[in-house]
Amino acid sequence: MAFILPDLPFAKDALGDHMSAETLDYHHGKHHKAYVDKTNGMLGDHGLEGASLSTVIKTAKEKGEKGLFNNSAQIWNHSFFWLGLAPEGSTKPSEKLQSMIDSDFGSTDKMLEALQNESANHFASGWGWLILNNGKLEVTSLHDADSPVAHGMTPLFTVDVWEHAYYIDYRNARPDYLKSVLNNIVNWDFISENLDGQGVQRADQMG
Ligand code: MN
Repeated sequence: MAFILPDLPFAKDALGDHMSAETLDYHHGKHHKAYVDKTNGMLGDHGLEGASLSTVIKTAKEKGEKGLFNNSAQIWNHSFFWLGLAPEGSTKPSEKLQSMIDSDFGSTDKMLEALQNESANHFASGWGWLILNNGKLEVTSLHDADSPVAHGMTPLFTVDVWEHAYYIDYRNARPDYLKSVLNNIVNWDFISENLDGQGVQRADQMG
């Protein structure tokens, strides 16, 4: 057994100009796939064949196995990222999520602005995150391959701010990429579902 590259949960051209089929070809078909292949190549050396992806990530973190941690965490981060995207206009926040957004941020626009600012200002490679912390919505970011899985966080949504996420469609303009993604192709159904605290499992898989 080995980890697999999960299929995209939407057609490759379904996100329109916000995230092109060419970007998805590279980002999913080459970058994400490379993390899967590299992780599979390392599992034997660490005696972790057959373990779940989340177990591999946590074990690699505990043991300071950087190569294994970076590659396995990137499998999970990308799997979670794709699940958080959806064709424009196809989803909306549940009543529960909307009321949390309103009480924690004031409005959906304000929450997206907070996520946009955190992610745009994140120095170098990493990921912007919307998480649930003590029952409240919170925006944060993590560096490089670092992942909520390794920190016991409750992830609701993520946006990839590695250059490979936006260079084809937006060149160096990270803020334009973030604005386009966050205002148009967020999968609100996925965020609403993740309020149950099971977000980590939704992008997990058995090895
Ligand atoms: Mn990426």
